[in-house]
Amino acid sequence: MGVKKFKRVLVANRGEIAIRIFRACHELGIRTVAIYSNEDQCSLFRTKADESYLIGKNKGPVEAYLNIEEIIKIALKKGVDAIHPGYGFLAENPDFAKKCKEAGIVFIGPSHEMIEALGDKIQSKLVAKKVGVPTIPGIEKPITSDEKAKEFADYCGYPVILKAAAGGGGRGMRIVYKEEELLEAYYSAKSEAQKAFGNDDIFIEKYLEKPKHIEVQVLGDEAGNIVHLYERDCSLQRRHQKVIEFTPALTLTPEKREAICQDALKIAKAVNYKNAGTVEFLVDAYGNHYFIEMNPRIQVEHTVTEMVTGIDLVQSQILIAQGYTLDSPEINIPSQEAVEPRGYAIQCRVTCEDPANQFAPDTGRIDIYRTGSGFGIRLDGGNGFTGAEVSPYYDSLLVKVTASARTFQDAIKKSIRSIRELKVSGVKTNTGFLINVLNHETFLKGECDTGFIANNPELFN
Ligand code: ADP
Repeated sequence: MGVKKFKRVLVANRGEIAIRIFRACHELGIRTVAIYSNEDQCSLFRTKADESYLIGKNKGPVEAYLNIEEIIKIALKKGVDAIHPGYGFLAENPDFAKKCKEAGIVFIGPSHEMIEALGDKIQSKLVAKKVGVPTIPGIEKPITSDEKAKEFADYCGYPVILKAAAGGGGRGMRIVYKEEELLEAYYSAKSEAQKAFGNDDIFIEKYLEKPKHIEVQVLGDEAGNIVHLYERDCSLQRRHQKVIEFTPALTLTPEKREAICQDALKIAKAVNYKNAGTVEFLVDAYGNHYFIEMNPRIQVEHTVTEMVTGIDLVQSQILIAQGYTLDSPEINIPSQEAVEPRGYAIQCRVTCEDPANQFAPDTGRIDIYRTGSGFGIRLDGGNGFTGAEVSPYYDSLLVKVTASARTFQDAIKKSIRSIRELKVSGVKTNTGFLINVLNHETFLKGECDTGFIANNPELFN
């Protein structure tokens, strides 16, 4: 094993996460290389790297960042030691991780075999079952007909959920409340999965009503040491997409928190997990928790964990990929007890969306961009500055506002203060909606479940 230090790291991504990774590299004394599409020529992130190169000249805006051959070719030409994939794009593509390795470039993340294994939600559920971690009642193999789906629903009762085995980003999922809806849901989930993932395997499980989404951050090194960095509550979702995340989860008892974190470790250890990963659970109204999937990458909401633990997750990823162990002075997590979370942190995703148009992504030129920083506020931005063009090609995230404080109430106050100070003109944003959620008494108690936003339409006013 041993340590092999990186001199140059290429980030195969754009926007805020590219900047986040460049910053981590610069703090570690590593040179950074950006790649950017035609559409991103004027984007902020490319100016934050030491070098930047145009890719996908004749490709579409998204395809440019998915072009494995070209990205590896540039990396080799520029003498890059390692590639960080960020999240989205190629982050969970086992073929990319494999091709990096074959080219002699370190992929900052777990092995391609691990990405492949965890990319299949059915296989992951089987791993959880094997080590005695509870999973949602369901059928752990692809269902081959709507009849099979009906048999299961008759047995366990409606509602049920159909999910794509290869799913991600909420795609290929259908909730079915009654038998009449099953046929249509089965075929539409299958075709959506085929289109999005090139794999139409669908499985079925019981649909939990109003659960909480609780996930646990883990870090594993090449020597086999694994720790958890406690949980995040990501229940505030719109159409199964996270909007606000916080830590610690207010509604967990200390015993429940410990049980969930230990179950996350069981799964990470069972697969001998390396690098940063997230083990996701749903917690039902009775406090039972069930594993749903493990994500082998950095998550958008990693900031809240960093704010309460003081551990830089992106630097840890890079150090682990260089061969440093968790107990090395560089990473400095010699034991589970060394992870000591303090206080509370909340992350709000400010997006360019038009509240008057059902929150459709909004685009255009930003004429004014003024942010609200100050004590207890961390801003992870990527696309926002006066004069920036917000294009329709990429996700609508403008800036992540993370507030941290000694109490949850203070973290909420700071979030509201910062979001109110944020002045954006030229494109519409969801700031009014975020403030409505932050001011809601259910949010104040940390009690929102995954159905909260859908069940409270007044939040959109
Ligand atoms: P993806 O990988 O597409 O994001 P996940 O399996 O992580 O999908 O689930 C995303 C969200 O969908 C969860 O946080 C939860 O809100 C909802 N969900 C998934 N499975 C269930 C279920 N069995 N019952 C209730 N809600 C579910």
